[in-house]
Amino acid sequence: MIDKSVIRELQRVVGKANVLTSAEDLLCYSYDSTFAEHLPDCVVQPGTTDEVAGVMRIAHREGIAVVPRGMASGLAAASVPFSGGIALSLTRMNRILEIDESNMNATAEAGVITAHLQDTVEAKGLFYPPDPSSIRQSTLAGNVACNAGGPRCLKYGITGDYVLGLKVVLADGRILSTGGKAIKNVTGYNLTQLLVGSEGTLGIITEVLVKLISKPEYVRTALAIYQDLDDASRTVNAILTAGIVPCTLEMMDDTTINTIEECMHLGLPVEAAALLILESDGEDQDMVAKEVQAMADIARRHGASEVRVAGSEAERADLWRARRSVGPSLARRAPNKLGEDISVPRSAIPEAVRRIKEIGRKYDLPIVVFGHAGDGNLHPNVLFDKRDADQWSRVEKAVGEIFAAAVELGGTLSGEHGVGVLKRPYLESALGPVSIEMQRRIKEAWDPKNILNPGKIFPPENMAEL
Ligand SMILES: Cc1cc2nc3c(=O)[nH]c(=O)nc-3n(C[C@H](O)[C@H](O)[C@H](O)COP(=O)(O)OP(=O)(O)OC[C@H]3O[C@@H](n4cnc5c(N)ncnc54)[C@H](O)[C@@H]3O)c2cc1C
Repeated sequence: MIDKSVIRELQRVVGKANVLTSAEDLLCYSYDSTFAEHLPDCVVQPGTTDEVAGVMRIAHREGIAVVPRGMASGLAAASVPFSGGIALSLTRMNRILEIDESNMNATAEAGVITAHLQDTVEAKGLFYPPDPSSIRQSTLAGNVACNAGGPRCLKYGITGDYVLGLKVVLADGRILSTGGKAIKNVTGYNLTQLLVGSEGTLGIITEVLVKLISKPEYVRTALAIYQDLDDASRTVNAILTAGIVPCTLEMMDDTTINTIEECMHLGLPVEAAALLILESDGEDQDMVAKEVQAMADIARRHGASEVRVAGSEAERADLWRARRSVGPSLARRAPNKLGEDISVPRSAIPEAVRRIKEIGRKYDLPIVVFGHAGDGNLHPNVLFDKRDADQWSRVEKAVGEIFAAAVELGGTLSGEHGVGVLKRPYLESALGPVSIEMQRRIKEAWDPKNILNPGKIFPPENMAEL
């Protein structure tokens, strides 16, 4: 509960209309894209970095928890305000401040929707590659705070690879600028990259400076259809070991295909056991066409029963509509889904998929598998009904075993969604105690009062609090 006098103070900083306290408003800021929920005590919507600093000075003095929030599309419950306090929504800060064409970079406020940045720079012949499937419903700072990936990251890298600098408000309200437009910069510790992936636990990002590249002119996409999921996994390895670097290698299993088709009616092959979406892009039209052809040949040699190359932009758009609608389509299958994002070395993909399917059978739970197979980042999604206590306890055991399998295969818990709350219990198995100890110390140095997104990433010292 926040004292009324403090609410009035917050109103003076950001304007009365930008502090929300009604029950209906609090409910709207109580969840993310998981099933987790908790009400904040109030919602504050700052419009400038100085306003964020003013809010943080008050929160710091009063010891109030502050949970930064973009579009709440996160899949780890990282923006759910479990300790109450202030839900700090950055979505009013949605301006692209500069596109510097000669230095090929752009500066944007935290709450810019990623797709808006992409569309704007592409209109100038430039390219911002990170493309989480949620590009139309996630913010740039949310992407930075989670170090988001996406289908294109196989060729182009993840969000962090494009972040050159940040403006950040610290827990006590001081404003920190990191990095800058100079591409080479080894002056001091790399605080920019420390903040990337910090899930709102070290500071509030208010501005992001990103690197841009030139927009690839040509792109071709193909769909490879398999009767055996193993063949699809083997194709992924074969393409990459042949020295081809496609911009995308996405995989979907049979349940994923059927669920999308039921929802979207795109003519996907519902009898197939798996699909791969293969995409190549570049400056040279012939090279791009040759690369797609080479991938199609490899796919056929590794058991694809059919390979369809998209003949038009409309066909290509349909394939991407299919891929981007996986999450929403799955929501029709069961009241709840737990979408994980384990990451394993590429060669371990077939074994990882086999183990996930086995775990699904063991706990009698539908687990669908899709994801960015090219970089070993798989999204096993467990479908269930959380109201059924028996099902929920089986889900918890199944997820624990999926994480254990990922770590055993040389991989890790998360390729792009982050730890949030849902993966906290498994953190030590992935990182070991020394790493956790060092990371806790970093958190203490940046946020000694533990007011920034408290309880996220690290398991509580007392495991009974989980
Ligand atoms: C359908 C769907 C598809 C998705 N596909 C992908 C995908 O392909 N790749 C991928 O990586 N993720 C994906 N996600 C997950 C999600 O979209 C990403 O994690 C995204 O980066 C979250 O952005 P957001 O603006 O919604 O942040 P939120 O969910 O609001 O917040 C996420 C985290 O960032 C912190 N945060 C937000 N803003 C700030 C700020 N200004 N300063 C400091 N911390 C901040 C929050 O505190 C929280 O810890 C998907 C989600 C959905 C629902």
